[in-house]
Amino acid sequence: MEVKDLGEFNLIEKIAAHFNGRDQDLLIGIGDDCAVYGKGSKKLSLVTSDMLVEGIHFNLDFTSPYYLGGKSLALNISDIAAMGGKPRWFLLSLALPGHMDVSFVEEFCTGAAHIANKYGLKLIGGDTVASPDKIIISITLMGEEDGTEPIRRDGAADGDQIFVTGTIGDSAAGLELLKGGTSRDSENKSHVEVIMKHLSPTPRILESEFIASGKIATSMIDISDGLLQDLNHICRSSGVRGKVWLDRIPLSDSYRETAQGLDLDTPFPLVGGEDYELLFTVPLEKVEELDLLEKEFFCRVTHIGEIVRGEGVALYDSHNNEIELTQYGYEHFKAGQ
Ligand code: ADP
Ligand code: MG
Repeated sequence: MEVKDLGEFNLIEKIAAHFNGRDQDLLIGIGDDCAVYGKGSKKLSLVTSDMLVEGIHFNLDFTSPYYLGGKSLALNISDIAAMGGKPRWFLLSLALPGHMDVSFVEEFCTGAAHIANKYGLKLIGGDTVASPDKIIISITLMGEEDGTEPIRRDGAADGDQIFVTGTIGDSAAGLELLKGGTSRDSENKSHVEVIMKHLSPTPRILESEFIASGKIATSMIDISDGLLQDLNHICRSSGVRGKVWLDRIPLSDSYRETAQGLDLDTPFPLVGGEDYELLFTVPLEKVEELDLLEKEFFCRVTHIGEIVRGEGVALYDSHNNEIELTQYGYEHFKAGQ
C-alpha cells in the first residue's frame, strides 16, 4: 500500500502507534494543535511544529520570500493561539538547493523577523542543510500557558454552540487568484485583500488570550485544513457531532466579489483552508461573554452552528435541509490536492 492510499490522518495514527507517548509530565500529546507538558511546574509549556514544502505549501512564482518567512512563523503562532497559549521561542530549519541566491534567505529572514518581533519571539536554534531541488521549511515553536488552562480539541459537549472569528474563505480565494496570474499589485482592492489574507495571515493571539483567560471555550482549533475538516477534528476528539448552518458562514465582501468572478461553488470557503481563524465551542451560559470580544478587540465573532450527540460534521441550508458533503477539507496525499 502506498502512503497516499492511507491518507495523512491514518498515517499519523500509524506512526503514533509505534511509540508510547505518555509520561507523568505530559498533559497533551499527539492529536491537538500543540503538545502540552510540565505538569506540576509553575507554567505549562506548549510545543508545535509545522513544515512547508515548495510546490505543496508555497510556490515562489507568486509568493515572495519575505511573505513566506512571515507566514511560516504565523501558522505556528496560530497553533499556539488555538490552545490559548503565549508563543515564546522558535527553532528554524531550512533545506535549500545550493543554487538558491543568498538574497532568498535574507528576505525570508526579514519577513520572519518582522513577525517574530511583533509577537516577541526569540530564535533559539534550528538546522540548515542542502536539498536536491526543493525548499523545505520547518519551524518548531515553543510557548507557555500564562496562568491559563490549555483549550483542547476534545472538550466539546452536546448543546455547546460553535463560533468562528473573522471571515472564511478569503485565503483560499486569494490562492485561486494567485494561481490564475493575478498579483498583489492588482488594481482590484477586493482581490488585493484576499491575496494578502493568503500571503500574510494574522494569527488570533489576542483573541485567544481573551477566550482562554475567561474560560469561555470548551474546545478550540485554528482553521488550517478547512472549517469543516477542522470542526471534524474537534468532533472526533470530543466524540460529538457538529451542525453548521451554511447561511451563517461569515464571508467578506472581498470574498463575495472574488468568488463571483471566479465562479467558486458554495462549499468552497468551508473546505479551502489556511484561514488561521479560531473555531471554538461555547456552552450556552457563556455565549454572551463573547460580546466583549467583538466590542473591545474589533473581532468579528460568528455563531455558525451547534454541537449535538453523534459523530461527524453536517452542513444545513436555510430550510434546515442537510447538504451532502463530498469532502471536509484539505488532507495531504489525497488525490487532486
Ligand atoms: P495542525 O493542522 O494543527 O498543525 P496536524 O493536522 O498537522 O495539526 O497534526 C495533528 C496532530 O498530529 C498534531 O498533534 C501533530 O503534532 C501530530 N503529528 C503530525 N505528524 C506527526 C508525526 N509524524 N509524528 C507524531 N505526531 C505527528
Ligand atoms: Mg492547528
